[in-house]
Amino acid sequence: MQSLASVRAVKEIMAKHGLSPSKGLGQNFLVDSSVCPRMAQLSGAAGNCVIEIGPGFGVLTRELALIAKRVVAVELDKRLLPVLGETLAQFDNITVLNADIMELDINRLIAGSFDGGDVVICANLPYYITSPVIMKLLEEKTPAKAITVMVQREAADRLCAGPGSRQSGAITASVSYYASVRRLFNVPAGSFYPAPKVDSAVIRLDIYDEPPVKVKSEKMLFRVIRAAFLQRRKTLLNSLSSGLGIPKDELLPVLRSAGVPESIRAERLLLEDFARISDALAER
Ligand code: SAM
Repeated sequence: MQSLASVRAVKEIMAKHGLSPSKGLGQNFLVDSSVCPRMAQLSGAAGNCVIEIGPGFGVLTRELALIAKRVVAVELDKRLLPVLGETLAQFDNITVLNADIMELDINRLIAGSFDGGDVVICANLPYYITSPVIMKLLEEKTPAKAITVMVQREAADRLCAGPGSRQSGAITASVSYYASVRRLFNVPAGSFYPAPKVDSAVIRLDIYDEPPVKVKSEKMLFRVIRAAFLQRRKTLLNSLSSGLGIPKDELLPVLRSAGVPESIRAERLLLEDFARISDALAER
């Protein structure tokens, strides 16, 4: 089986099939042979069922299939299907599905594809939908143990930022309700063809069985988090007031009853603080 993880192999495949990489679909193919085996191992794929998003030419798919029970790979770009038919021909535990991950009912796909066993998700994500894909998987309560994804360094920094740290954002706080996040390893831009402008990192999200805080309304919690970070340079009182459309004099007693100082910035708050504000607002 010829390796797919080299600039030469990628160029050969593209020439043979008359393809060029689509920038719009975030097609930066992995050409560093050390990355995919490591990513597959660390994702928890061994002996389990795997959903891969965006198999491209199948470089990571192969490594996953070598150790997993079954792999379902979801690829949006129709042009890649004949390529995958060739590169994955030797495997009988891979199904390739031509679909847009953002449109797909993933819970139904999992229920229909795997007969029991743990499910993990593993992907070199197209950068243009990094946060939407992660939030979709979490919000739809995808029955997966873990999500291991390659993302741009900046997204990894934000996702792995500790609660209350300067790099944290709405995505950090929202994700911390569903999962613990850690960086597995960094991947330089030169490991891809075509090389993107920035470096990447592989991160792993381990999904909680139960969220770390209990709230009266999840919808309210996420509204509060989004509003708090809308104008991150402003004080919490100002950004929540404009983000939620609630006058400051009505919001002030809410923050006080939640025990959160009104002049603090959103990035300083812990998930527990957002939960208390959300509960105080839900009671209002
Ligand atoms: N896994 C391959 C690799 O590591 O070389 C390709 C990774 S490339 C960064 C992202 C892949 O996601 C491409 O194959 C692209 O066509 C696919 N893709 C882009 N948008 C998608 C979507 N909405 N649903 C499913 N796949 C998508």
